[in-house]
Amino acid sequence: MPTIGAGKGAQMAIEFRSEPITVEVLDTSGKSLEHRLERRFDPLTSRSSLICPDLMDKVTTFYRNRDDRWLNEIANESKHGCPFCSPTIDKVIPRFPQDRVPEGIVTFENFYVFPNLFPRTEFEAVVTSPEIHYLNLGQFTRELLYNSLSAGFKCIRRVHSLSANLAYPVVGTNYLPPAGASLIHFHQQIAMQPVPFNRIKDSIELSARYAEVENSDFWQDFITVNGERKIKQTGSIYWYVPFAPTGFCEVQAIADVSNFLQLKAEDIGDLAAGLSNVLRYYHQRGLDSFNCIIYSGSLEKANDFRAGLSVVARPNARPNYSSIDSWFMPLMLGETVVPQRPEDVVAEIREYF
Ligand SMILES: [Zn+2]
Repeated sequence: MPTIGAGKGAQMAIEFRSEPITVEVLDTSGKSLEHRLERRFDPLTSRSSLICPDLMDKVTTFYRNRDDRWLNEIANESKHGCPFCSPTIDKVIPRFPQDRVPEGIVTFENFYVFPNLFPRTEFEAVVTSPEIHYLNLGQFTRELLYNSLSAGFKCIRRVHSLSANLAYPVVGTNYLPPAGASLIHFHQQIAMQPVPFNRIKDSIELSARYAEVENSDFWQDFITVNGERKIKQTGSIYWYVPFAPTGFCEVQAIADVSNFLQLKAEDIGDLAAGLSNVLRYYHQRGLDSFNCIIYSGSLEKANDFRAGLSVVARPNARPNYSSIDSWFMPLMLGETVVPQRPEDVVAEIREYF
C-alpha cells in the first residue's frame, strides 16, 4: 500500500494512505476500456474518498456549464418579494427572545443576524445584508465576507455569554439552490448545539486520541507533512487541499486557535480573504454554487483542537434543480435532518404492507 509524503520521527503516525484500483469496462463492440482509480484514506478519520481522473471528461455533464444569462434573470426575478432585500427585511425578520439575544437582533456594519424561523437545532440564525442580493462567485470580496463573518461571530459570542451550554457553533453557507439554499439572496447561517455535529465530533475525538497515543499534536504534525497539498499560510490560517476530499474542488483551512472565542479580528480577516480567493477560483473554473462550514472546538474550553473551514463547489444552478437534502449540515457535517418522526413514518408505511 503506497504512502505518499509521510514524514519522519514524530510525524510517522500520519499516513497519506492510498490504494490503486483498476476497473475494466467493455464498450458496445466488446473492446476493453481500463479505468485507473484511487481510493484514499483521510489521515485523521480514515474516511475513504475515491479519485476518478477519467471522470474529468464527464465533469461538465454533471456540473453543467454556468449559464450567466439565466442566473442574472433569476437573480432579477427573485429580487421581487425577496425577504432579505431592503426595505422588506426590516418589516419581516423575526427577533430573538430576551434570554438568547436581549437586543432582538445582532448587527455588524451592514449585516443583520436574526433567528431562523424554522430552527433545526437549539439555536439557529441567519446572517445577511439587505444591500446585496445575488453575487457571482467572483464578487465575494474580502470586505463583504469579513463583515458577514464578523456579524456571525459577534452573535455567537453574545449567545454563548448567556447560554454557555451552546458550546459548539458552526457558521455554514449554502449558496444557490444546488447547495440547498432556498433563497438566491446571499446569506450565512449559524447553528449552535450543546454537542458537536458528527463530523466535528469525530475530528475532536480522533485528534485527542492521536495526542494521547503519539504524545504529539495532530494538527502540527499534519501541517509538517502536508506540504504537497499546502496552498498557503496566511497569518494564523493554514490553507490546503485535502488528501481525501469530501467534495468537488474542496479546500480546507486550519486556524491556530481551538475555538471561535479566541479568533481575533485579523484571523477573521484572514478567513475572509482566503474564502474570497477560493470563490474567485471557483468562478474562474465556471462554477456558481458552493457549501461552506466554519467550525469550532468547544467554546467552554480552549484545548489542542483547531477551529477550521471547509468549502466545496456544488453543481451549477439550472432550472428545476433542487437538493434540499444536501445542504451543509447533512453534506458536510454528517447531520441528518428529517421532517417526520420515524414512528409516524412507520405508521404510514405499514398501510402499504
Ligand atoms: Zn434579496
